Amino acid sequence: MYLNKIGDVPIVAHRNLPTDAEVKGVVVKREPIGNWYASLQLETPNDPPEKPDELTKTVGIDVGILNYASDTDGTAVGSLNVSDERERLERAQRDLSRKEHGSNNWEEQRKTVARRHADLKRKRRDFLHKLSNYYASEYDLVAVEDLDVKRLVELPGNSRNRAGAAWSTVLRMLEYKCEREGTYFVAVEPAGTTKECAACGIKTDKPLWVREHSCPSCGFTADRDWNAAWNILSRGIKQLGAGRSETTPAETALPTGTDSVPAKRVVETGSPDLKERAAPAASE
Ligand SMILES: [Zn+2]
Repeated sequence: MYLNKIGDVPIVAHRNLPTDAEVKGVVVKREPIGNWYASLQLETPNDPPEKPDELTKTVGIDVGILNYASDTDGTAVGSLNVSDERERLERAQRDLSRKEHGSNNWEEQRKTVARRHADLKRKRRDFLHKLSNYYASEYDLVAVEDLDVKRLVELPGNSRNRAGAAWSTVLRMLEYKCEREGTYFVAVEPAGTTKECAACGIKTDKPLWVREHSCPSCGFTADRDWNAAWNILSRGIKQLGAGRSETTPAETALPTGTDSVPAKRVVETGSPDLKERAAPAASE
């Protein structure tokens, strides 16, 4: 990056600039831990694209517990692996506790701890950016559950806070990215999405550890998260249709029959790349 009066400065670019964007300004900022950041202010010539009248590519996403997310197209995103970053942070914290409080060494180590914290946070945010970007650019309609306070309460304290924060961050990111891409974004009522059968609508109680949905009423079996994702999508389409009568609701290819859905889970660790799981056959 070329800066006036300073000259060329090597940078790490976090994402590519849109080709039609004009750089209007740059803010150079130094973080407390000493890193420098340059934020570009861009102007793009076009207003956000219009949202389509007809939906051709729709997706429901279940923010899961074992997987980070599962969607109706069979994509399963594993939890982000931050064990290395966490280990480095813990080591830095241990080192800090052994130093004399207030000494120069202590002060230096305190900065290291802050840096490790920032690394962890940055990796998580980057993951969520990529995840939300993928959905917003790939689909016409993205349906997710609204923040489910009741389900979060079931998690142990520590992971509850983190899951809740990540969830609301991803909702916010999805919302503005969908707007930017001309994609509908719908946050649906979360109650009962895992209990309901996507094929017949009958509710069955399922404890958390039961990973398969098996309907006692119609016999439909599917992976638990995949079943939930379908319920989220059909709620999303219904909700969107209620708000926009001119929208032609997409045909929801709800699973029917008793065929089991191959739940080949893609457990991705350490990488936010999305991998396709074999998409189950739609209704015939
Ligand atoms: Zn059923």
